[in-house]
Amino acid sequence: MVKAVAVLTDTTNGCMSTGPHFNPAGHVHGAPEDEIRHAGDLGNVTAGVDGVASINITDCHIPLTGPNSIVGRAVVVHGDADDLGKGGHELSKSTGNAGARVACGIIGLQG
Ligand SMILES: [Zn+2]
Repeated sequence: MVKAVAVLTDTTNGCMSTGPHFNPAGHVHGAPEDEIRHAGDLGNVTAGVDGVASINITDCHIPLTGPNSIVGRAVVVHGDADDLGKGGHELSKSTGNAGARVACGIIGLQG
C-alpha cells in the first residue's frame, strides 16, 4: 500500500520539487474521510504485483474549478503507507510518514 496526495506542481526536480501537500485551509495531515486534513490528502492506494495502481477518487476537498482548483497540481505516490496522521511519528501530522516520493503526475482535464 502506498499513498497519493495532491501537491503544488513544479517538476523541475522530478517528484521531489512538486511541493508540500495541498493545504489551502492550513490544517494538519489526515485521512480522506477526516474533515480536518490537508485538502490534498487522498489516502492509500494499492498497486498490483505488476506495480500498477488504478485509482478512481471522488473527494469534496479538491475542486476542479475555482481558487482551490487542483488542475495543474500534481498527484504524488509515496513508497510507504500513509499513517493518515494517526501514527504518532514526528512526520505523521505533516506527511503521514509515507516515505519517499516514487511517482508523480500533473492533474489536467481532458475533454
Ligand atoms: Zn497531508
